[in-house]
Amino acid sequence: MSTFTEPEERVELRKQVAKLAGKYGREYFTEKARAGEKTTELWLEIGKNGYLGINIPEEYGGGGGGIGDIAAVCEELAAQGCPLLLMVVSPAICGTVIAKYGTEEQKQRWLPGICDGTGTMAFAITEPDAGTNSHNITTTARRDGDGWILNGRKIWISGVDEASNVLVVGRTEDAKTGKLKPCLFVVPTDAPGFEFTPIAMEMVAPENQFQVFIDDVRLPADALVGDEDGGLAQLFAGLNPERIMGASFSTGLARFALEKATAYAKERTVFKAPIGSHQAIAHPLAMSYIEIEMARLMTQKAAALYDAGDEMAAGEAANMAKYAAAEAACDVVDRAVQTHGGYGASQEYGMAALLVATRVGRIAPVSREMILNFVSMHSLGLPKSY
Ligand SMILES: Cc1cc2nc3c(=O)[nH]c(=O)nc-3n(C[C@H](O)[C@H](O)[C@H](O)COP(=O)(O)OP(=O)(O)OC[C@H]3O[C@@H](n4cnc5c(N)ncnc54)[C@H](O)[C@@H]3O)c2cc1C
Repeated sequence: MSTFTEPEERVELRKQVAKLAGKYGREYFTEKARAGEKTTELWLEIGKNGYLGINIPEEYGGGGGGIGDIAAVCEELAAQGCPLLLMVVSPAICGTVIAKYGTEEQKQRWLPGICDGTGTMAFAITEPDAGTNSHNITTTARRDGDGWILNGRKIWISGVDEASNVLVVGRTEDAKTGKLKPCLFVVPTDAPGFEFTPIAMEMVAPENQFQVFIDDVRLPADALVGDEDGGLAQLFAGLNPERIMGASFSTGLARFALEKATAYAKERTVFKAPIGSHQAIAHPLAMSYIEIEMARLMTQKAAALYDAGDEMAAGEAANMAKYAAAEAACDVVDRAVQTHGGYGASQEYGMAALLVATRVGRIAPVSREMILNFVSMHSLGLPKSY
């Protein structure tokens, strides 16, 4: 008989990751972020413990698990106040795409570093002029003898400064117009002609976002991952995991905020009883508890469908999970700020710092509007609106 609970090993994994992340904690994380430093020790420690590559096949240094496992790691880190944005891109998007479509040699070259954290890979699809409309990307690869020459511009690319390589989504010169037939290239961050500059953000996070300039970057033939005519399937192999990870990032942060707000509501007394005895404080937190649990359940469903190989059903569930999780996270952080009164805006209690981090969940990796477009069209059969 199947149940709605996660397998015992997954529950144990959550406990172990929470314990590890708890050693670092929110204070460590925000101190690093505010000082403009990285959380490399934590990244390498989760790598050393096998959590970073838990979804990657064992023969390449991974744990042989699924997206459900790496999503659990991502959620538990965030629930301890240590959300690691690059988990979404390095193991979940890049690791999945390379494990599925890479050659044996490419897997041996890149996957072990993704697993132990010494060869982090960023992911670049978004372009300044294309934005949400990925069909309009113009990063273009031209054949050059045996290899390629790549040109283009990317924006909002996370963690380029911490990455050894970037998995860049482009198109070949022959497929320059019309429906996107994406091609995926692994580009070393120190390649001549590859430049990146940070974008000043209001988010309290150790990871930076970058604008990337790719000017005549020469790549060997085997920089291309998968087939040049492979089409959208190769890209989507990474995008459903991205949405599931985005959802887990949000539910983890949401749990962190709810726990802090609940603890504060129990202890802070200004009239006769703790503020949590007032329904005006208690009910919004109770609503958040329900919303977060619903989003977690949908995230687990999406991961289970993805790991079972049902990509179509996983696509719908991953979109819905990402939507529900971002909404739940934005709402609970707003309520947590309110619960803390003046301290809600303080650095000491750290709630306001979560406002931007959770708000980004409504925009990236796919915006709430595009999810609503997807559900309107694919789930409800309504006409395409764009
Ligand atoms: C912190 C952060 C990290 C990121 N990391 C990465 C990364 O590592 N790699 C990467 O490739 N990208 C990354 N992104 C980019 C992210 O995926 C995009 O910002 C996102 O997809 C939205 O694209 P855009 O910013 O160009 O918005 P736009 O496409 O300009 O859209 C602006 C607004 O218009 C709405 N809109 C557009 N078209 C429609 C429509 N047809 N119907 C209804 N509404 C519409 C959008 O929903 C949005 O609200 C990151 C972004 C952020 C903020």
